[in-house]
Amino acid sequence: MRRNTMDCGRSGTLNRGAPFTLHFFIAGWQVIEMLGWFSPRIFLGPAQRNLLKRGVPVFAYHKLTTPPQGTRDPFLCVSPNRFESQLAALRLAGYSSGQLDEWPLVHEHETPKAVITFDDGCANVLEPGLQILSRHHFRAIQFLVAGFLGQKNQWDVAKGDVPESLMDEVQVRQWLAAGHEIGSHSLYHGNLRHLSQADAREEIFASKKSLEDRFGVAVQHFCYPYGSWNEAVCDLVAEAGYSTACTMRFGVNTVAAPRFELRRIIPLSSVELLRKCGHRLRRMLRPDRQGPARSGTSLRTADLPSPRELG
Ligand SMILES: [Zn+2]
Repeated sequence: MRRNTMDCGRSGTLNRGAPFTLHFFIAGWQVIEMLGWFSPRIFLGPAQRNLLKRGVPVFAYHKLTTPPQGTRDPFLCVSPNRFESQLAALRLAGYSSGQLDEWPLVHEHETPKAVITFDDGCANVLEPGLQILSRHHFRAIQFLVAGFLGQKNQWDVAKGDVPESLMDEVQVRQWLAAGHEIGSHSLYHGNLRHLSQADAREEIFASKKSLEDRFGVAVQHFCYPYGSWNEAVCDLVAEAGYSTACTMRFGVNTVAAPRFELRRIIPLSSVELLRKCGHRLRRMLRPDRQGPARSGTSLRTADLPSPRELG
């Protein structure tokens, strides 16, 4: 299946074999684009306000908690207080709640829209999240890992990360009853770019069907685990009947944004951003860093670590 390049076309993660200088340049550019040259404020700071004028921002959250001791990626955690202050800041700046399929109408909205997304379906989003979202009149979408509902984040635990409880069916129903949306984040959080075609197909198709059968709602949006995708993966997402797919590429979405390559922004503070850049550089320089994941393997038999582009 081939589609217009507006829909999809490139690979979704940096090649691990790319020159170090390229990684360094991209990381540096992202810092400048997010932070600006002169302001230490990132979230709705001067640089981000300029960026947000160009298209619809989709914010990518994961966990609403302070980072647990020993977690491998503390940058995926946002404290409930900070989440509340970020939504308040969005409202104060005139933003209202948007949904993923509204991005082509970017110039038709009377007020600017911001989309709130959560990846992985962590249970700690539910308890403080519902009240905070409600207080600020935001709707959000939670991208669920359909095969692990009510379990732990096995894909991270397999790499030595701290176990995190994932929403079970009752909690997902609570999320839906509060007016929020669910999307698919695959079946077992496999790295779709490195799975066999058959396994990638199952992750994309079966997760949609499983969530729709269990919760009786249409699952229209997909989110690539690890932000990892390529043209063949995009084709499968389109064939499965999703209307959009979220990446971990940094940026906002203009009218011309490819629907299966929606960009997102991780709401990091300036300190976190600098620490994350240092963290990534250290990982790139580590002599024992693993090579590209093997193709044709499955998460069920081999958990495949892959660099998240920004989380
Ligand atoms: Zn994920």
